[in-house]
Amino acid sequence: MRFRRRSPAEEREVVKPDAAWRADLTAEQFRVLRKKGTEAPFSGKHVHPQPGLRGMFCCGGCGAELFDSTTQFDSGTGWPSFSDADAGAVERHRDLSMGIPRTEVLCRRCGGHLGHVFGDGPAPTGQRYCINDAALVPPGSSAPGSGAA
Ligand SMILES: [Zn+2]
Repeated sequence: MRFRRRSPAEEREVVKPDAAWRADLTAEQFRVLRKKGTEAPFSGKHVHPQPGLRGMFCCGGCGAELFDSTTQFDSGTGWPSFSDADAGAVERHRDLSMGIPRTEVLCRRCGGHLGHVFGDGPAPTGQRYCINDAALVPPGSSAPGSGAA
C-alpha cells in the first residue's frame, strides 16, 4: 500500500465525460450521481432495511462497495440510512449549497454524489449517512463494472 499525496479528483479510478455517464445511467441516477441531485423522500426501494437483504450496497455509477447492509437503519427521513461506510470507499466534502454547512458524501472511485452524512446517527459510530437510493445498487443485484455490462 502506497500513500500518494494527490487531490482526490486526480485519484479517480473511473472517469467519464457526462455523455458517457448519461448513456450508462438512468436519468434519475445521472441527476443524483453526476449532478448532485436529491431524490424525493420515501421514493427509493431501500428506504427501510429489508430483512434477508445481506451484503454490500454498491455505487450505482461504478460498482464500488460502499455500505454494508448490517449498518443500515431506519432513520425515518425517507432515505436509505447507514451508520458507517466501507473504509476508504467514500469521501467527505464540505457543502454550503443550501446555506447551511453540510457534509457531502462522494464515491471515492468515481466521484459520484451519494448524499450527505450527519452526526446524529446511532451508536457506536454516531454517524448517519443519508444516501439517495438512486445512487445505490442493493446487495444481490449486478453492479456496474461487475462484468455484466
Ligand atoms: Zn462510484
